[in-house]
Amino acid sequence: MKSINNNQLRLVDVNKEVELYGWIHNIRKFKDLYFIDLRDRWGITQVVFNPTNINVSLAKEYVIKVKGIVVERKSYNLDLETGQIEINALKIEILSRSKELPFDINDNINVSEDLRLKYRFLDLRRNKLKNNIIFKNKVVKYLRDFLNEQDFIDIETPILSKSTPEGARDFLVPTRKEGKFFALPQSPQLYKQILMVAGFEKYYQYAKVFRDEDLRKDRQYEFFQLDIEMSFVDENDVQTLVEKMMQNLFNKLNINLNVPFKKMDYDYAIDNYGSDKPDLRYENRLIDANELNDNLEFLFNNQCTKTLFLENEKISKQQFKQFDEIIRKNKANRLLYLTIENNQISNSSFKIADFSKINNFISKHKFNSGTLFIVSDQYENVCQSLGALRIELNNIYKFAKSDSYEFVWIVNWPMFEYNEDEKRYSAAHHPFTMVQEQYLKTFDSDPKNAKAKAYDLVLNGFEIAGGSIRIHDTDIQRKMFKTISMSESEAEKQFGFFLNSLEYGVPPHGGIAFGIDRLIMILTNSESIRDVIPFPVNSKGINLLSDSPSQVSTEQLDEYYLKLKN
Ligand code: ASP
Repeated sequence: MKSINNNQLRLVDVNKEVELYGWIHNIRKFKDLYFIDLRDRWGITQVVFNPTNINVSLAKEYVIKVKGIVVERKSYNLDLETGQIEINALKIEILSRSKELPFDINDNINVSEDLRLKYRFLDLRRNKLKNNIIFKNKVVKYLRDFLNEQDFIDIETPILSKSTPEGARDFLVPTRKEGKFFALPQSPQLYKQILMVAGFEKYYQYAKVFRDEDLRKDRQYEFFQLDIEMSFVDENDVQTLVEKMMQNLFNKLNINLNVPFKKMDYDYAIDNYGSDKPDLRYENRLIDANELNDNLEFLFNNQCTKTLFLENEKISKQQFKQFDEIIRKNKANRLLYLTIENNQISNSSFKIADFSKINNFISKHKFNSGTLFIVSDQYENVCQSLGALRIELNNIYKFAKSDSYEFVWIVNWPMFEYNEDEKRYSAAHHPFTMVQEQYLKTFDSDPKNAKAKAYDLVLNGFEIAGGSIRIHDTDIQRKMFKTISMSESEAEKQFGFFLNSLEYGVPPHGGIAFGIDRLIMILTNSESIRDVIPFPVNSKGINLLSDSPSQVSTEQLDEYYLKLKN
């Protein structure tokens, strides 16, 4: 076995005979000698050999074994931990050769992500990705240690199971029992609640979960969730535990973190930031401008107008087109803008009927110089579209500091959302979430106004955790199903096993789940969640390394009683 890592040797080791192993990160000839950067997981050591004594033909990424003497370098390389020494090779043995590389094993490479994903084993040799994976292991260890110290226990739940509604499509697994399928868990929700019924009181799990939904830079089909459930708690108890856990983690990472975190009502977040996961590293709030409603020619009897001010920047026609597209994609009819210079309108994308009200508006808000964006439509569309523009402006103008961490709890969520297509209410969180006491009697008759005992934890504009206090009473649970138009027989078919457990002495309980990959993405300042997952699918949902998903044989289909349509 290898006993020395390539970050280890120092001046004190000079004159020792050593054996090193690793990949040839680099090899170059200088005068009569060859210099190798020999890399392993831990670092790099320089190896020197004279081709007249050692006759080998080497190339990048060959795996070799080197026997040699540690010597002091003539000039130190301060970038390397081992930069004061090098190895004078006595013997070099090739353990494995490498084909020519599709890209360099370097952090600054300029190749497509798909090529990197196809050769993921090479991609993972690059420092950035390798360090992300190592960092993730460290973070998970700290989180686990913390929970274990608090007397939580790690309990596994089945992967082959029944679907749990978390709002995404299930991945189904056919079985050899004709017409019967397992569903991969979207979360361990029902099992963790059953573990509370079973009396474990404090549970956690570093759980793999699966959701078949559109992929984004912060979404994969499968990801890790730190799932937590506790008995005899209220919202504050869960939130306090999480704050302590985050503080403990950040402490270990040498980042100071103040707790408790801010709390913000869901309605306030939507109204001011146009998002239920506001990035609070920068302000740029949406500003009500209903006073302009009956004044501007462009308005089509809309119910709501809001603005967003971009200070000190003018935008080009091209940018305006891009921004307008964002607004339209987010359901609002169009974007308008004004350029303001020294408190005066110097340009506008639309005809202004009456300057007085708009000038008043500008001076009231002390908009000195910059661009004022205006959207006028239904309230939800205005908020959503300007919220999306707010994020885009930050992408371009970088208001947010990358090394600051703004946590906020989003609380007082609505219990239900109305689904226009299906003409029914669905659970805004999931249907096991408890309603706030004051809506207990009315939530089924007036679902629109009912608020949930639910909370999301948002960090720098990403939802990193979400949870709730649960319904622990069968009658309320049944009423909940009824409110989301789930018939009794349907509820029984899907959740009978769970409803049954609620009949046998259930502690009040609640919990939360963390998207660990997202957290790691933020902490490592990565562009995409794919950079913190060893073997992700690409943006189109394909694992390019293994070329999956892939077809299966007719024999396999037959075994599962399946037949493909056309
Ligand atoms: N099961 C929820 C989710 O995965 C989290 C929770 O309510 O604990 O989003």
